[in-house]
Amino acid sequence: MSAQPTALSRSWEEVRADFPILAQSIHGHPLAYLDTAASAQMPQQVIDRLVWYHSTLHSNVHRGVHTLSQRATQAFEDVRLKVKNLLNARSLKECIFTGGTTDAINLVAHSFGKAFLKEGDRVLLSALEHHANIVPWQRICEEVGASIDVIPINDRGELILDGLDDLLTERTRIVGVNHVSNALGTVNPIEEIIARAHARDIPVLIDGAQAVAHMKVDVQALDADFYAFSSHKLCGPTGIGVLYGKEHWLEKMPPYRSGGDMILNVSWEGTTYNGLPHKFEAGTPSIAAGVGMGAAIDYLQELGFERIAAREAELLDKATERLSAIPGVRLIGTAEHKASVLSFDIEGVHPHDIGSILDSEGVAIRAGHHCAQPVMTRLGVPATARASFAFYNDDQDIDRLVAGIYSVKEIFG
Ligand code: PLP
Repeated sequence: MSAQPTALSRSWEEVRADFPILAQSIHGHPLAYLDTAASAQMPQQVIDRLVWYHSTLHSNVHRGVHTLSQRATQAFEDVRLKVKNLLNARSLKECIFTGGTTDAINLVAHSFGKAFLKEGDRVLLSALEHHANIVPWQRICEEVGASIDVIPINDRGELILDGLDDLLTERTRIVGVNHVSNALGTVNPIEEIIARAHARDIPVLIDGAQAVAHMKVDVQALDADFYAFSSHKLCGPTGIGVLYGKEHWLEKMPPYRSGGDMILNVSWEGTTYNGLPHKFEAGTPSIAAGVGMGAAIDYLQELGFERIAAREAELLDKATERLSAIPGVRLIGTAEHKASVLSFDIEGVHPHDIGSILDSEGVAIRAGHHCAQPVMTRLGVPATARASFAFYNDDQDIDRLVAGIYSVKEIFG
């Protein structure tokens, strides 16, 4: 019997076959899924792990003395270890399960904000942020009387860091920036931002939603104070995500949500809180989704982040070249360092019409402001069409995108 092929020896065609959803037809056409930036698809290995959990382990965690509960707890806590290894966190205490990136950023904004933001303080964000890294800060700033400064971008969608030292004022208490922009694909120089903020003792929160599935992330090498991501962008299920936080910050921050699991002792006289990471994990978590996320982490690590990044760079380069050659198509966001997100528009056509026509041909892209309205405003567009790629896409998907764009142009004459 021949040996099982190792992950490295598997072709991309074989890897694509791990994703059953990609084998289906939409409106009579094979699906070309180019919306990974919204949600990445799940390989069979993740789906199998979910079925395994639901059919053999399902019960509540951290509570029961019975065997199922102990096994579910073990399976769930094993995922924390996988997260720790994925991010190279120092300790399990630094890896908090959340509902996703949005939930993780809300946790930091409200908990860090309650502890450290006072009237007159400032929060520094970037002009490339997703609403998830804007609105929670607006709310806490409003509550405590703090204000927000913004690192600007140039016309290519790159952060302008010339004035960064002036924006890092003596009242700036935290910086929040995304690792990769979901709207434009810009990969931000977060190492430099973190180093320059730390030179002034200011902590940095990185929104890693668009990065963690596409490149190796090492929170110790980055020296990030907080790093947030969602499972569903990582080939895992929806409903769970992670907040990494340096222990010394998390220790000083008050609980965010309250209830079961985050306590040590409750009485009418008062309550003492659980230690890290449970202090920030109130109530029953998304156990099945967590177990699925663990399988997704295993899957991506087996493929290898270098190999994934190289494959996605190849797809992005090809798609960029093909779309640039189509008259009337304008690429929006042309940063030097980009991940596999391609925003564009077509002269005289609203992006929603582009999305609908492509959908009728089985090509799934996203059209809209991508929850990044300030980016759209800065670049002077109401919305964009966005094709985003993952390692499971192939050249035919790009051909189909290009053919779909020609259909749009034909329809709109
Ligand atoms: N931040 C970025 C950069 C994103 O792309 C997204 C999702 O698109 C989010 C935050 C929010 O993630 P979630 O909806 O999983 O909480």
